[in-house]
Amino acid sequence: MSRSDDLLAHLDRIQRQIEEASLNAGREKDSCRLLPVSKTKPASDLKILYDAGIRAFGENYVQEAVEKISTLGHQDIEWHYIGHIQSNKTRILAEAFDWIHTVDRLKIASRLNEARTGEPLNILVQVNVDQSASKSGVSLDALDALVEAIDPLPNLSLRGLMSIPDPTDSDHLKAAHDRLHDAFTHLQTAVSEPAKFDTLSMGMTNDLELAIASGSTMVRIGTALFGKRLPKE
Ligand SMILES: *Cc1c(COP(=O)(O)O)cnc(C)c1O
Repeated sequence: MSRSDDLLAHLDRIQRQIEEASLNAGREKDSCRLLPVSKTKPASDLKILYDAGIRAFGENYVQEAVEKISTLGHQDIEWHYIGHIQSNKTRILAEAFDWIHTVDRLKIASRLNEARTGEPLNILVQVNVDQSASKSGVSLDALDALVEAIDPLPNLSLRGLMSIPDPTDSDHLKAAHDRLHDAFTHLQTAVSEPAKFDTLSMGMTNDLELAIASGSTMVRIGTALFGKRLPKE
């Protein structure tokens, strides 16, 4: 099979999995979006998916992403940054991307807000759902205060929450997903534009069904679509 045949077969399988999981959860079959995670993959892979109708990609590494964005263009592709944010990269992130999933402190949000021009930048707040000290993401305890502080920033559009739970067993994962979903529904009544606070970025290759059952509206899928990643040099 050619690379194109492979990718299109994987895409078809994942789209059916997402629809099925949504229906099984008693939801509309198109109520959860697929975000293909293309980190470490060549622009030629993204082009194959683009030709099959995909218009959003998730990237983790700034330099690599900027190169792909200049190769593939920006006009009708939504670029999502899902990697760790260093504060000296906020300007380029605010200029190059449409969505940032990994905002977990006010300092970063303020810098993105200052650097952004034009359309507001779509922001998700990353939550540390496992409450583990070593991980990024705001704690559930500090989440409300952070959301309240980000909400009025004029060049950001606060769209929802995101998590990267530890890949534990399904009981723990489900509990982590349910905690994030609870926080999300609670915050929808607190933010200034509830209609825009519509995105729960939760679920990856190994927990996509569980995440959809717990209310995910966007699953970030790398391995199941592109195959294994080579270690980054
Ligand atoms: C790499 C990555 C993904 C994709 O993970 P897979 O298990 O390969 O589907 C999703 N989210 C984030 C934040 C990632 O870094």
